[in-house]
Amino acid sequence: MKIITSIFDLNKEIKNYKNIGFVPTMGGIHEGHKSLIKASQNKNKKTIVSIFVNPTQFNKKNDFKKYPRNIQRDIAILKKLKVEYLFTPSAKDIYQFKAKKFNLQKKDKILCAKYRIGHFEGVLNVMNRLMTIIKSKDLYMGEKDYQQLNLVKRFLSKKFKVRINSCPTIRINNIALSTRNKLLNKRSIKKASEIAFFLKEIKHKSKLQASKIAFNLQYYKEKLEKKYNIKIDYLEFRDEKNLKLNNFKSKYRLFVAYNIDNVRLIDNY
Ligand code: AMP
Repeated sequence: MKIITSIFDLNKEIKNYKNIGFVPTMGGIHEGHKSLIKASQNKNKKTIVSIFVNPTQFNKKNDFKKYPRNIQRDIAILKKLKVEYLFTPSAKDIYQFKAKKFNLQKKDKILCAKYRIGHFEGVLNVMNRLMTIIKSKDLYMGEKDYQQLNLVKRFLSKKFKVRINSCPTIRINNIALSTRNKLLNKRSIKKASEIAFFLKEIKHKSKLQASKIAFNLQYYKEKLEKKYNIKIDYLEFRDEKNLKLNNFKSKYRLFVAYNIDNVRLIDNY
């Protein structure tokens, strides 16, 4: 595996590859990331993984500081997976050139965008930069971060003529794998697992109920908050395609974000 740290070196290395799959990450490689890498390896000749903890998408300094990092462990895992390229740029390199700024529209300021001000503008900014540098044929992203996937598709897929491959959420004991899970203690992991199981059941029950609108999510939200001593930012049914609230005309998902022991977890079912 070639480890590339600068845009200059990256241009030299991958300029001539037409069939490359790109998996952007913030490191702390887990089975969720691995599933994206495997999808790329199945479809593309070569795979490039980036590890970049992007400062502009953190709306709280402390969250950025405590984000789990372990580059040596990540390198060992990626080598084992036979990834061809790892790109680990510095913030200076990524932000050294001028690039378009992205503004969300009013209709986009929902779910995480409502609670993490500036987060998705930061995500779109860095994705635009990474995709400008890497120019891959395919991009692999996880459904765990569904709103992120939706916004990247809408704002960037046309510009880069890239195929965006959405990959299903990988869970263990019902919990969606996330680098942030490393910040949880055993007790919180157990709670998160029970919460995830409960939410999966709610989604299932909602499908059986004729009037989904009448489904009382507020009741379940309060019940969970009380039982597990958590703060739920949102618990909402939204349309899979346009993320409209309680739009049960086509496929929908149950979206959740909550804080447990100062760690923010998100998922969708
Ligand atoms: P991150 O390193 O958390 O920024 O995630 C990098 C990519 O991996 C994103 O496209 C995520 O949606 C995806 N991802 C993270 N966790 C999972 C998971 N549990 N299952 C599938 N994809 C995931």
